[in-house]
Amino acid sequence: MHLTLHLTRACNLRCDYCYAPPQDGAPMSFAIGRQALELGSRLNSGSCGIVFFGGEPLLCKGLIRDLVACGHELERYRAGRFHFKVTTNGMLLDEEFLEFALREEVFVALSFDGTQAAHDAHRRTAGGAGTFETLLPRLRLLLSARPYSSVMIVVNPDTAAHLTESVEFLLEEGARYLILSLNHAAPWTEYEKLAQRYVAWTRAGRKFYLSPFEVKLSSHINRHCYHKDRCELGRRQLSVDPAGCSTRVCNLSKAARPAVGASGTSPREWTRRRGSGSTRNRSKRNPSAVSAPCGCAATTPAAA
Ligand code: SF4
Repeated sequence: MHLTLHLTRACNLRCDYCYAPPQDGAPMSFAIGRQALELGSRLNSGSCGIVFFGGEPLLCKGLIRDLVACGHELERYRAGRFHFKVTTNGMLLDEEFLEFALREEVFVALSFDGTQAAHDAHRRTAGGAGTFETLLPRLRLLLSARPYSSVMIVVNPDTAAHLTESVEFLLEEGARYLILSLNHAAPWTEYEKLAQRYVAWTRAGRKFYLSPFEVKLSSHINRHCYHKDRCELGRRQLSVDPAGCSTRVCNLSKAARPAVGASGTSPREWTRRRGSGSTRNRSKRNPSAVSAPCGCAATTPAAA
């Protein structure tokens, strides 16, 4: 079981494609974070991935430091290791934090959309200003220390046309590990047009195979066969919000809001749920249990 800890819902940017717009509210407490680490260490005898996420997690640098120290303390008397990662927009990335990340082996993943035109088109401050000029030195700082840090590019319909240019730009800046994520909520008009034609052709009785539509349909019809391609939430991956609850995402039912530690579901209960068979069977036995009815890939949020 790997854990994504949403340390805060606050963010210092206002990207227009953000699927979880910044909100007020208290950040995660150390106690909740520690309970999540303990849960992770109980559920994993080998390695346990911990992702510090947000909002913007570097708004909580002190908490990250404390939780990493806590994780190392747990490693001393429990089997297994933690692998820490922070996914950041980079606005607060500085030499001091990077030095800490290098020393403590915290992997840093940075969201950066490519050329200035592509990046500033969507990744902006609350005042609407582009962030490319601010972030480029931080990107260079990160890559000079760790060239294989993940650089995450969100691709939108308007930036897709210049994607090659953006990738080339990042490679020239020294990036070696690039992750492209489509903004699925954007209006991809050609894709929608094709989907409508797919329906019309199918209804007209035409015989053909056209992926990815066929794959998506098959994964819904044969959920038990396609489980490896489907969302891992609740089985191998758990998302914990600042209050210690499993984060509500598109494929968690409203009733499924188990909490970490004393405020809700115990580690034993999580173990029981995890080991209770396939997603399909679990849903039959307990409709309110964590399930993945839509089959989407929401396990790795697109951006920080
Ligand atoms: S996409 Fe990430 S950086 Fe941008 S507003 Fe949302 S949380 Fe903040």
